Amino acid sequence: MESQGSGMVAISDEVASFVAREHGLFIDGGWHAGQSSARLDVFGPATGTRIAQVIDANAADVDAAVSSAARAFESGVWRKLRPADRERILLKLADALEANGETFAQLETLNQGKSINIARAVEVGATVEYIRYMAGWATKITGETMDVSIPFPPGARFTAYTRREPVGVVAGIVPWNFPLMIAVWKLIPALASGCSIVIKPSPETPLTALLLARVASEAGVPPGVFNVVTGGAVAGDALVRHPVVSKISFTGSTRTGKLVGTAAVQNMTRFSLELGGKNPIVMLDDVDADQVVQGVLAGAFFNQGQVCAAASRLYVHRSRFAQITDALAAAAGSMTLGPGLDPAAQINPLVSARHRDAVAASIARGRAEGATLLCGGDTPDRDGYYVKPAVITGVAQDATVAREEIFGPVLVAIPFDDTADAIRMANDTPYGLTASLWTNDLKAALNLIPEIQAGTVWVNCHIPLDPGMPFGGFKQSGIGREFGRQAIDGFTELKSVCIAH
Ligand code: NAD
Repeated sequence: MESQGSGMVAISDEVASFVAREHGLFIDGGWHAGQSSARLDVFGPATGTRIAQVIDANAADVDAAVSSAARAFESGVWRKLRPADRERILLKLADALEANGETFAQLETLNQGKSINIARAVEVGATVEYIRYMAGWATKITGETMDVSIPFPPGARFTAYTRREPVGVVAGIVPWNFPLMIAVWKLIPALASGCSIVIKPSPETPLTALLLARVASEAGVPPGVFNVVTGGAVAGDALVRHPVVSKISFTGSTRTGKLVGTAAVQNMTRFSLELGGKNPIVMLDDVDADQVVQGVLAGAFFNQGQVCAAASRLYVHRSRFAQITDALAAAAGSMTLGPGLDPAAQINPLVSARHRDAVAASIARGRAEGATLLCGGDTPDRDGYYVKPAVITGVAQDATVAREEIFGPVLVAIPFDDTADAIRMANDTPYGLTASLWTNDLKAALNLIPEIQAGTVWVNCHIPLDPGMPFGGFKQSGIGREFGRQAIDGFTELKSVCIAH
C-alpha cells in the first residue's frame, strides 16, 4: 500500500539553505575548505537525487582536525573546567538541540530517508534526553580509596587512591542509520569526561553532524574541543591510525570494526566497537498473538530494519508458528510505503541505492535457497530506495538469510519444538548484540535469560534503549559498552596514586 502523502511535511527555508550551502570541515571552531579536492555527493533517499556535496577529507585534513583537538586538550580549555561548568555547557547544547529540533529532524529525514516521526522522537527527542542524562556524569566521575598493605620501609604509612582522567583526543566514527543520535553517543560522554573529539560521520549521511558542530559551538563548546571531518574510508583510516588519537569509539559493521581494531592495536590506541547483529526473538508457546504482533513489527521493521539491535530472526514454538507468522505477514504487508517526510508512511526508503540493491540481493539469495516470502521483499518501481518489508519462512538455520546481517526490512521465521533447541539456534551466530524472549511465564524467562549470548536481552519487547542501560555486544557484535557509567569508563584512563607519609 502506498501512502497518499497528503500531509507531507514541507522542508523549512532554514533546512533548504543549510543543505544548499558549501559545506566545509569544522576544525578549531570554524569552517575550513580543507586540503582535499575530492567531494562526496550526498543523496536524498526518497527521490534518489543529489541534495548536497561535502568534502571527502584526506589524511592531511584529518591531521589538521586531530591537531586542533590535541591543542585544545593540552591547553586545558575544556578538561580543566570545573566539572559543573562542563555539565552546564552540555545542558545548554541539549537545550539548543531541542530548540532547533525540527530543523535537525527534517535534515535527517531528507538525508537518511527515515520517517519524520522517528527523526523527531528518536534522532532529536531521545538524543536530547541522552545528552541531559550523560551531562550529569561530568560531576560524578570518581575513583576509590584503598587501604594498602605495603610493608616497606617498616612502619611506613601510605594512602592510595585512583583517579579517572580524560583519555585525550577521541576519534568518533559513525554509521548512517542514526547519524545524529550515534554521533551524540560518542560526543557527549567524551566531552563529559573532559576529552576533545574528532567525529567522522558516514559519507552517506554527513549533514546533521555538521549542523551539530555549529550548534555545539554556539552553546559554548570551545574551539578545537569538537571537530567534524567528512569523508569515507580514507578519512576513517587516517583517523584510526593517527598516533595522537588516544581512543577510538567506532560504530559500524563487523567487517570495518575488525580493520579498526587491528589498526588501533598498532599504537595501543584504546578502542570500543559497536558492531553488527543478527538478533533473535524467541517466542514461547504461551504468547497472545494479538499482543505480540505490533511489538515484533517494531522490533524488526523500525527504521526499515536499519537498526543494529533490530530483530531479524524469529524463533516461534511450532504450535503457534503459522498463526503468528500469518498475523505478522498480514500486518507487514499492509504497512504504507512512502517518503520519510510523509508522517503517515510506515515504511520509508533505505539509505542508499547501494544498500537497497544489497538488501534485494540478500532476499534473492534467500529465494534461491528455497525460502518462502509470506509478504514483501520486492523493490517497487518508483523513485527512491524502497524495499517492501519481508517475512520469510521455509529456511533452515544455516540458510544465508538466517545467518548474515541484512540490515533491512527482512525477518526470517523458523519454528522450534523444544525451548532448549530455540536457545541453541538463537545463540548459533557469530553475533551477540541483542535478543528478546516473549512469554508470560516469568519462571521460564528468568531461567532462559542467563543462557542467551547477547549484550541486551529484552522480555516481551524488542528495541527500547535507555541512556542508563549499558549497550554493546557479546562475541563479534563488539567490544565495550556505551551508555551509563560504562560510557564514562570508556573515555577515561584509570590512574593509581600512592602517597607515602
Ligand atoms: P560501515 O562499517 O561501512 O561504516 C561505518 C563507518 O566507518 C563509516 O563512517 C565509514 O566511513 C567508516 N569507515 C569505513 N572504512 C573505514 C576504515 N577502514 N577505517 C575507519 N573507518 C572506516 O558501516 P555502515 O554501513 O555505515 O553501518 C551499518 C553497520 O553498522 C551495520 O553492520 C550495523 O549493524 C552497524 N551498527 C552497529 C550499531 C551498534 O551500536 N552496535 C549501531 C548502528 C549500526
